[in-house]
Parts: sequence; C-alpha cells; structure tokens
Amino acid sequence: MKKIQMVDLKGQYEAIKDTVKGAIDEVLETSAFINGPYVHQFQKDLESYLGIKHVIPCANGTDALQIAMMGLGLKPGDEVITADFTFAATVEVIALLQLTPVLVDVNADDFNISVEAIKKAITPKTKAIVPVHLFGRCANMEAIMEIAAEHNLYVIEDNAQAIGASYLYKDGSKKKAGAIGHVAATSFFPSKNLGCYGDGGAIFTNDDELAHTLRGIVNHGMYERYHHDVVGVNSRLDSMQAAVLAAKLPRLDQYNEARYRAAQKYSAAFKGQEHIITPDFSDNKEEHVFHQYTLRITNGKRDELVKFLNENGIPCGVYYPIPLHLQKAYTDSRYNEADFEVTNQLVKEVISLPMHTELDDEQIDFITSKVIAFVND
Ligand SMILES: *Cc1c(COP(=O)(O)O)cnc(C)c1O
Repeated sequence: MKKIQMVDLKGQYEAIKDTVKGAIDEVLETSAFINGPYVHQFQKDLESYLGIKHVIPCANGTDALQIAMMGLGLKPGDEVITADFTFAATVEVIALLQLTPVLVDVNADDFNISVEAIKKAITPKTKAIVPVHLFGRCANMEAIMEIAAEHNLYVIEDNAQAIGASYLYKDGSKKKAGAIGHVAATSFFPSKNLGCYGDGGAIFTNDDELAHTLRGIVNHGMYERYHHDVVGVNSRLDSMQAAVLAAKLPRLDQYNEARYRAAQKYSAAFKGQEHIITPDFSDNKEEHVFHQYTLRITNGKRDELVKFLNENGIPCGVYYPIPLHLQKAYTDSRYNEADFEVTNQLVKEVISLPMHTELDDEQIDFITSKVIAFVND
C-alpha cells in the first residue's frame, strides 16, 4: 500500500507534470512574471467555468476576503456576521478592517452557518453576512440571500473550500458556489480543491462597478497609472501560479469527482456504525466537493482516535479544535455560551480523514477498518 497522506500533492502533480512544466517554462521564457498572459487566460477560463462576469485574481484567499470587504465600502463599526466554526482568516480580516465581527453558531448536519442564528444576530448596525462554504458544501444560500435582501445586507461568500461545487435551489436551478452572493473570495492555497504551487486567490462578482473598484484596490488603489484614488493594497497572482492554475482548472471537475467517490466509499463503510456520524450529502455529486471528509465521533474519544490513527500511519486533522468566539483574539463580552451550542459540541467531535484526488481503494479500506476497529473496541 502507498503511504497514506492527508493531501497528496505530489501524486496529483505526477499526472500533469508535462503540462505544468511546459506552462512554467513558457513563463520563464517570456519573463512576464507579473500580469503575464497566463494571469489573463486563467481569469477568463475561471469566469467561464463559474458562469460569473468578473474574476479578480489576487495574492491569497485572506487578501481576497479583505479586498472584497474594502470594495463594498464597509466602515469601522459596521457589523459583519460570520460562522463561529471556520478557519480564522474570515474573522481576521473583519477585525483588521475595524469592522465588528459577529460570530454565530452553525448547523450540526452540514457544519455551515445557521440561518436562525443569523436572523437572531441582525441589528441596525449589521452590514454584511459572510457564509463560509465549509468543507466543500454550500451554506443555505437561498435563505441567506432572502434575509440579506430583507435587511439590505451584502453577502460575501467565503468560497475557499468549495470551488467547483454547485448550489441547488428549491426550484431545481443551480449556480456555482461563489457566483451567488454580491461578491465571493477564494483561495488557491496548494491543498485547496483548486490549488496552485504557492499562494494565490481571487475575488468573484457579477457587479461591473464593484469589479472595477476591486481591480483598483488590488493594485494600490490605481485606476490610472500613478493616480491613487483610493487606499489600496498590493495583491497579485503571479504568472507562474496562474500557469499552474490554468493547467489544473480543466481537471477541477474530475478532481472533485475523485474526492466525491472517496467520500462515498468512506460513508458506505461507516454506515450503521454507532459512535460515528458521517457527513450529510446527497446523490448529486456537484453539491459537495469534499475539501474535507469530516466525521463526528460521539463516544467522547475523538482525541484518542486521532492518536490511534497516527500510530497506525494514518494522518488526520481536527478542523477546527477551538471555536473562534473562544480564541483570545476574537472573544467578546457580548457573546453568550448558550448561543454556540453546536460549535462547542463539534470542536470536541470532529475529525477529518485523508481526502485528496489520489486516494485508492486499498488506502480507504485500511483507514475505515482502523476507524471502525477503534470505535468498537
Ligand atoms: C484557506 C482558507 C482561507 C484563506 O486562504 P489563504 O489563501 O490561505 O489566505 C480563508 N477561508 C477559509 C474558509 C479557508 O479555508
């Protein structure tokens, strides 16, 4: 059996080596390292893949979130609602811009922001909602967009973990994750579903005026060379990363399908196991792109399972071990523990198993047999 890895970037690279090397070579030969032709090509390719009018490439996913919020003109003191159970980048940029983060609880079944909790958290100061499509599955965007329209709020999708996923509306229509809110941010960090070989990110929007604003912000607030109309930042996707991404984008659906197949195989093996709650997902493979495959271990022995798996050569992860509202940087006296019942429980139960495009059946069988042996011990 091949050594099991949490993410197998090397294995994936082997299959696309020639294409990637050719593209990187081209960047080297043309020496257009910043804003070269691959940046433009990847931007156009991604716009058509997502069915969105504007993709604005930038340096990483955290910048993408920050720039999106700057572009919307959010001001210090504005309240921004986001999920308590997510990676810190989301709340970090809210705080950095001196906006007021308002963390709310999530759902136990899909790990995504709770619509009821959003409703409860809205005040006259609320200006935006940031749903995070956690682990590869969209938050309840239909309900979130309705609430936003009702209260005149912006919706900024954090799509760092769900690129390529679709959201299905009640009427059967669908849209790609990141093409639903007013603006979206994504990350091309190497381990994401569409990862480059360094840092990268992008902002998406259908709004022409906002897209124009964002293009200036990523480039020092310049709309005309050396005329700085607004305070901007320097946030660029470099040509080498764009070349890698242009080579990988045509394979994104295939990559996401490989993840979905691995998830199906995991869930089939865990079916009926006491103490294990498998992630909730439908037969529609577009709806979940499994950035992570995350179980809940309900016998109180999650930490022991982590140790046991590691001892057996199986890497795993706990995303996330501490709710954001309990992190030193983000605690706030306004928070009430009773409002974070689900997150407080999830942080004790979740474990993410190896998930990537190169997992084979033998590896999955080995992983599931070890997990099952542990919980039945
Ligand atoms: C990875 C990630 C980010 C940040 O992306 P970087 O490119 O690492 O800055 C933001 N939000 C979520 C949910 C992420 O998973």
